Amino acid sequence: MSKTPNTQPLTPNLRIGSGYDVHRLVEDRDLILGGVKIPFEKGTLGHSDGDVLTHAIADAVLGALALGDIGQHFPDTSPEFEGIYSIKLLEHVVSLIKAKGYLVSNMDATLILQRPKVMDFLPEMRQKLSEALGISLDQISVKATTTEGMGMTGNGDAVAAQAVCLLSKF
Ligand code: MG
Repeated sequence: MSKTPNTQPLTPNLRIGSGYDVHRLVEDRDLILGGVKIPFEKGTLGHSDGDVLTHAIADAVLGALALGDIGQHFPDTSPEFEGIYSIKLLEHVVSLIKAKGYLVSNMDATLILQRPKVMDFLPEMRQKLSEALGISLDQISVKATTTEGMGMTGNGDAVAAQAVCLLSKF
């Protein structure tokens, strides 16, 4: 059997990226997820606003072009990013991929937490994220799941998020 030569270009028109993040849930912090403030007795700890969903999404976008991660672009030692609204960080990440000739084709993200129930807030999160990503609503999916009471997200210690995105060259 003859070997088929690898004709894949070095920079293909489609790139996939994944992102994952976890933040601790603590008292006296706001809970901001996907750019939306959620009423809850606890919030996520972080140097920025601790928006774990937006962080996972930004890391997926960066990862698709092997541009590192948000910790490298926005160091948590920098006062510039203290308390920053993470949607602003995502907008900057999108400007980086645009400069390289790419746009987000679609994004699929999942929030992992036990409480609070976030289902009613998912449409607003999609709206905010779609604006930051410069895409339409049908290009972004935000889902939520619990871990059935198990582990750090199940016992209420943390909120986690993961995201997968596809970028296409324009
Ligand atoms: Mg984070």
